[in-house]
Amino acid sequence: MKKTFFHLIQDVQKKGECNHCGGCVTFCSAMNYGALGLDDHGKPFYKDIDKCNECGLCYIICPQIKELDEEIKRNAQWESPLGHVISFAVTRAKDPDLVGKATDGGVVTAILNHLFDTRRIDGAIVSMSTPHGRIPWLARTSEEIMDSAGSHFGSSHGIYRFARDYATFSPSVKALGETRAMDRIAFVGTPCQINTIRKMQALGIVPSDVIPFCFGLFCSGNYSFQDKLFSELEAKYQFTYVDVIKINIKEDFIFSLASGKQVHIPVAELTGVKRVACKFCRDFSAEYADISFGGLGADHGWTTSIIRTPVGREVFRDALEKVLVSFRFEDNPKYITQAEEKIFKASRQKKEMSDQNHMARKTKGIRVIQ
Ligand SMILES: Cc1cc2nc3c(=O)[nH]c(=O)nc-3n(C[C@H](O)[C@H](O)[C@H](O)COP(=O)(O)OP(=O)(O)OC[C@H]3O[C@@H](n4cnc5c(N)ncnc54)[C@H](O)[C@@H]3O)c2cc1C
Ligand code: SF4
Ligand code: SF4
Ligand code: SF4
Repeated sequence: MKKTFFHLIQDVQKKGECNHCGGCVTFCSAMNYGALGLDDHGKPFYKDIDKCNECGLCYIICPQIKELDEEIKRNAQWESPLGHVISFAVTRAKDPDLVGKATDGGVVTAILNHLFDTRRIDGAIVSMSTPHGRIPWLARTSEEIMDSAGSHFGSSHGIYRFARDYATFSPSVKALGETRAMDRIAFVGTPCQINTIRKMQALGIVPSDVIPFCFGLFCSGNYSFQDKLFSELEAKYQFTYVDVIKINIKEDFIFSLASGKQVHIPVAELTGVKRVACKFCRDFSAEYADISFGGLGADHGWTTSIIRTPVGREVFRDALEKVLVSFRFEDNPKYITQAEEKIFKASRQKKEMSDQNHMARKTKGIRVIQ
């Protein structure tokens, strides 16, 4: 008997390991009949169990289920400890307006726009900020891609306009439902989402065939901020949320204030609001992406990239000629090695944390230690 969503509930949801990627709902073969739904928090549920045809697809593509792991590792030429790596780079967008609004160096958006302008994609699955966090969407114009850059909230109002209940996650896989046949779409997402896409591609499931480019974001975890936590952070770090215009995650969680000041909060202090599934996750650097991006290892306003596949190398090389500038390594020849070391460390720590939490759960029940 094939395992179905019923088994996902037992094996993933009940253990707190569902990362709300939305993959099971998006690719459910009875999607059009309404077998599954997503609640307001992105949690999948049986909308109508009688519509489930027990095909088993949702179970096998879930990133928390290991069945296809060996196959996607083989396809990606995965190797320990960081996945397949062709090269590292630290760059930023040539366009200063883009750098001003981007999360780090605007490299993701610059590459997406370049692919769009050179007609290699018809759109990109990205994420836009809303009052209660980021929501995924399929951007189909250059302007829409630009509008999705970064994590700014608008300097006139600050984060308060968006309520004090904010989550960093965006169930981007869900937006794949908006694609059309013949589309060529770039997908931007967290490592777990890239994992879901690679599983679908390994199985040849439509519409994963419309994605020629998978761009991964480094990810230490997803965090849901609620009112109480904000009050505690404000008191401890002497800022007010009204002044927050941008959030970012590098080594620390960073709130940028309208005054230009930055508040750095160690991620360990946010463990309480980290999604439980993230405490078991082993992938920091999006090991199955064509290119992975993060701020870690780069100075403020620059993006670190890991080029992993021939497709990624071709895209990055072309973008570097046209829309990106490279960090001047003559200013600091050790720079790229330092960036690599930081990524290795973050990656190792995430795997260790996952192992420790699995062990803690085995020996002490569901409690997780970090
Ligand atoms: C949840 C999360 C955790 C992260 N943790 C780390 C970390 O610990 N260390 C680190 O170095 N970097 C982390 N990053 C990556 C970092 O924040 C930047 O996205 C990355 O450096 C690219 O910067 P950029 O200026 O080149 O991107 P930009 O040009 O600003 O483009 C960013 C792209 O990512 C999309 N996006 C934004 N938020 C999400 C989301 N939640 N889900 C899917 N797509 C999204 C945007 O729509 C946009 O297309 C994290 C990102 C996310 C979303
Ligand atoms: S129809 Fe298939 S994919 Fe949908 S819930 Fe049932 S087993 Fe999962
Ligand atoms: S992790 Fe993703 S695919 Fe797995 S149950 Fe949760 S939403 Fe569904
Ligand atoms: S920590 Fe892992 S499970 Fe959580 S959002 Fe990031 S990649 Fe997904």
